[in-house]
Amino acid sequence: MLGAVYGDIIGSWYEAHSTNDYNFPLLKQSEFTDDTVMTTAVCKAILENDSDIKSLQVKARGYEYAVRYKQYYSYFPHAGYGHMFRKWAAEKNTMKVNRSYGNGGAMRVVPIGYAYSLEEQVLLQAKANCYYTHNCSEAIKGAQAVAMAVFMARNGETKDAIREYITKKFKYDLDYTVADIKPHYQFYVRTINSVPPSIVAFLDSHDYESAVRNAVSLGGDADTMACIAGGIAEAFYKDILEEIKSFCSSRIDMTLKKVLNEFCEKYC
Ligand SMILES: [Mg+2]
Repeated sequence: MLGAVYGDIIGSWYEAHSTNDYNFPLLKQSEFTDDTVMTTAVCKAILENDSDIKSLQVKARGYEYAVRYKQYYSYFPHAGYGHMFRKWAAEKNTMKVNRSYGNGGAMRVVPIGYAYSLEEQVLLQAKANCYYTHNCSEAIKGAQAVAMAVFMARNGETKDAIREYITKKFKYDLDYTVADIKPHYQFYVRTINSVPPSIVAFLDSHDYESAVRNAVSLGGDADTMACIAGGIAEAFYKDILEEIKSFCSSRIDMTLKKVLNEFCEKYC
């Protein structure tokens, strides 16, 4: 699960210093961003509410996630959130429903692919994770696609099976390579433009590091794309270089690390 967080940390430098070079220096003056903070918020919500999931409706479970988004935003309000999310998260004593089609619902969903053991649970939780901040079909589909890719990868499914499932279920075109789109790829935060290429960055990889390099070197929303590709890649390859682990681990705030470790001990 930490593969998502490490992807965010590695990509953070390149969100502002865009690169198309696959061989970019991996470990720069990198830092965790909103992707890590919100992934941790999802972990916290799951740790506190993981019993009896079938009896809960999407809205009720969505509220539990949303409470944690606001809480963790208040701990780290300058971690690079989108404008719309920041406005929502900063409002106290209300829980409005936002309909953003940005990739924020998909960027934090990796823990859901780890915590739940049935497809229907993963799909429901991924939808609930979007309820208060990304309540539109585009963002929900993106979150469900990423959560299901993680879920299938960690359960030993092949890349072909993952590609086929996501293509059929979510009508995503994943039939291309990173090299095919790199020449014209731009910076997108919209789900439909950034989530499918992040999944392709994983499908087109041969290990954790190459998935993250693929994602970052598209030159787009590097931290979020590397977070998604890295999260799926770790679930699939089940291995991350020690050098990457120790560098990235040293960049995570202790408040977050405590929750992430607790989650990993329980589910990973
Ligand atoms: Mg970010």
